[in-house]
Amino acid sequence: MENHQGEAPSPAPSDYVSEASFDELNLSEPIRRAVAERGYTKPTPVQSASFRPIRDGKDVIVRSKTGTGKTAAFGIPILERIPAGRRKASALVMCPTRELALQVAEELKDLAKHKDLRVVTVYGGASMGDQKDKLEDGAEIVVGTPGRIFDFIRRKSLVLDEAMVCCLDEADEMLNMGFFEEVTRILDHLPDDCQQLLFSATVPADIEQIIHEYLTTPETILLSGDEYKVENIHNVMYPAVDAYPKPRNLLYMTSG
Ligand code: AMP
Repeated sequence: MENHQGEAPSPAPSDYVSEASFDELNLSEPIRRAVAERGYTKPTPVQSASFRPIRDGKDVIVRSKTGTGKTAAFGIPILERIPAGRRKASALVMCPTRELALQVAEELKDLAKHKDLRVVTVYGGASMGDQKDKLEDGAEIVVGTPGRIFDFIRRKSLVLDEAMVCCLDEADEMLNMGFFEEVTRILDHLPDDCQQLLFSATVPADIEQIIHEYLTTPETILLSGDEYKVENIHNVMYPAVDAYPKPRNLLYMTSG
């Protein structure tokens, strides 16, 4: 079927790398090795632009979409920042869905494999027992969905008193799914000096509110690559015939 949206295919991350190299980021040996073993030869633009501000502990707002390498964009500097072997929640990553949480955790585990860091994933729709045991055994990085994260905070299985960095991944999606209440309650449990990273394709009013209340002099990182992707979406108008009901009009468009 013809693509009526006329969307240009999104560039693959490997076509989308920046001119910079990972060498310029002065990665520590364990992270540099894991990045190379993952087959990443050059950072993507969002990775180049986000690395220094995040590693230096700044709050950031990153306007970036899925498929641009955003997981490693927050993952690599987070893994550089947090000390090994602490076995206390040092980094918290919130994701809108269980699938994304699992995917993010998988990438973080792989990038952390040469550093003594543990990653635990917590999400709803699965029994709490195993996730609780892993949390209570101690882990530096906790990735999860807001509802389940908040459950574990309430039960004191997750203690965030020493968290150094918190990342809201796909923040706009998370709030679209109705997680505003949980997200803000979780943010209220973080230490005042906890670094905040907010990754979001869009910044609607509820995200503005979070930025205003929880971020401190944030740096905004806007990627020209993302603008490129947006500019390549062609809008197409179809005439609708009033004589037919809307579903029938829609059928004509999608089958045409
Ligand atoms: P993400 O935007 O984080 O979902 O990443 C999209 C895909 O890009 C994932 O399959 C990553 O493994 C891959 N990726 C991330 N960074 C790089 C890189 N620097 N070079 C090549 N592929 C990458």
